[in-house]
This record gives sequence, C-alpha cells and structure tokens, in this order.
Amino acid sequence: MNIIVCIKQVPDTNDIKWTENNTMQREGVESIINPYDLYALEEAFKIKKDKPDTKITALTMGPNQAESVLKKAIALGCDKGILLSDKKFAGADTYATAKTIASAIKNKLGNFDLILCGQFAIDGDTAQTGPEIAAQLKIPQVTFVKELDKVDGDSVYANRELDEGIETIRVEFPALICILKGYKETSRATINGIKRANESVITIYSSEDIGISPEQTGIKGSPTYVSKAFRPEHNRQCLFAEDVNTLASKIKEYIYE
Ligand code: FAD
Repeated sequence: MNIIVCIKQVPDTNDIKWTENNTMQREGVESIINPYDLYALEEAFKIKKDKPDTKITALTMGPNQAESVLKKAIALGCDKGILLSDKKFAGADTYATAKTIASAIKNKLGNFDLILCGQFAIDGDTAQTGPEIAAQLKIPQVTFVKELDKVDGDSVYANRELDEGIETIRVEFPALICILKGYKETSRATINGIKRANESVITIYSSEDIGISPEQTGIKGSPTYVSKAFRPEHNRQCLFAEDVNTLASKIKEYIYE
C-alpha cells in the first residue's frame, strides 16, 4: 500500500505572536509536528506493521525549516519526506494550502491508496485542509476518525467518534481520512530511525515543480484574508446561588440585561 501522511509544522508555544499582516509569526519559535498528525502517522505505522511492503510518505507545505518535522517523521518510521516550499506559497489560506498539496500529490506522488491528515492543526485549527484536499482530488473522505479498524482488500474500516457513539465506515481506496487523538501513546524514534532520518534526503518541490501557477497558490490564490487578529479577553466571574429560584433569576438577569 502507498500511504501519504500530511503533517504540519506548528509552533511549540502558547505565546502566539502576530506579524503586521495578521499572520502568525513563526520565525524564532520552536516548532513541532502538529499533535493530531502524530496520531495520523501512528495509524499509518499500524497498517505497515500488518503489511510490511507499505510505503509511507510524509508531506508538508511550509518554509525550509519544516524539513526538521519531515526528518522527525522519518525517524518515527516514514519511508520518505516531501517538502513543498516556495515563497509563492506564503500567505496561503486553507483553500490555497489544499490546492497546493493536492497538485503535488496529483503531479508528483503518483498512485496512492490512502491520505491521512490530522483532524485539526493546533494553531490554525480550522479542520478544513484535509476535506479540501479530498475535494480537490475528487476522492472520498472520512472525518473525525478515532482509529482505523482494519484494511480489507481495497478498502479500510474507520471508526468515527460522534456525539452519539462510534460509527464504523468502510471506504474504498483511494480515500482521505482525518484522524483524531487516538487511544494509545504515539511512537518514539528509535536509534535506527534517527540514523535513517539523518541519512535521508528530503525532496523539495517548488510551485513550478508541482505545476501550480502563482495565481492559484499563496496569498494570491487565497479567497480569505485575516482582517484582525487578537487575543480574546476572559472576563469570567463566579456567582453562587443558594437555591434553584435564585439561580433561575440570576440566569434571567444575565440573559436579559
Ligand atoms: P487544519 O485544517 O486544522 O489542519 C488539519 C490537517 O491538515 C493537519 O492536521 C494536517 O494533516 C493537514 N495540514 C494542514 N496544513 C498543512 C500543511 N501546511 N502541510 C501539510 N499538511 C497540512 N500560515 C502560514 O504558515 N503562513 C502564512 O503566511 C499564512 N498566511 C495565511 C493567510 C491567510 C489569509 C489565512 C486565512 C491563513 C494563513 N495561514 C498561514 C494559515 C494557513 O492557511 C493554515 O495554517 C493552513 O492552511 C492550514 O489550516 P489549519 O491550520 O486550520 O489546519
């Protein structure tokens, strides 16, 4: 099987700073693999354990420094890393990000069975990128998947976590699946993995390489823009009610005032 895992490099901080263009400042901030993507990698490793000839490609779009998260993914067990990096990709919203990733997959990665994404990225947190990649590639998608149950021929059973309980979906390949935080701990890199990562060469593709025009990617290809970015102020208060009637009147006061 051929599996592509989309991983995003996110800042390892709660102290988010903004640039003058209202985008997140990433320079000079320690970066990590988006935690949800570690669970997506884990599901890929589970399949590989069962089917050892499986090839796992980690793919990210980001600045040159994002090479480090691809090396980390290789140290954890991926076979190779692909970095989409070009000044023309800068300022991409989720639509342009998905379009860029989909172009790379279509034009450079060839046949695949499964694309795994995290459900959310902890910085942008829109949960749009995975479904938008599937839409661009015109393949089925399954979201909010807690774990992949089993691969059966040319399909996989995925357990979705819903408010009402767990729903199991069988989806045929090729498909895209968005993974939630799983039940188990994620893998740690082994000494051999780290050695393999150090020896590996990350393939870097530009906009020209993947056949996407500057008008379709980056800020030019982004229909959304950030008009304002701010840190919300919390103004929480704690009120005690002695009995139900007082509670009801306090709620009424709160709603109608
Ligand atoms: P989600 O949709 O929540 O992520 C879900 C999953 O999608 C992830 O778990 C991962 O599997 C996959 N995924 C998401 N992003 C990537 C990626 N880059 N590579 C591989 N897989 C991925 N961000 C910048 O870094 N630099 C900018 O200059 C910038 N400019 C922006 C300008 C605008 C107008 C807007 C609206 C956003 C901008 N962003 C920028 C944010 C950027 O669009 C999002 O971070 C990105 O599109 C992913 O969205 P998300 O963070 O909500 O991820």
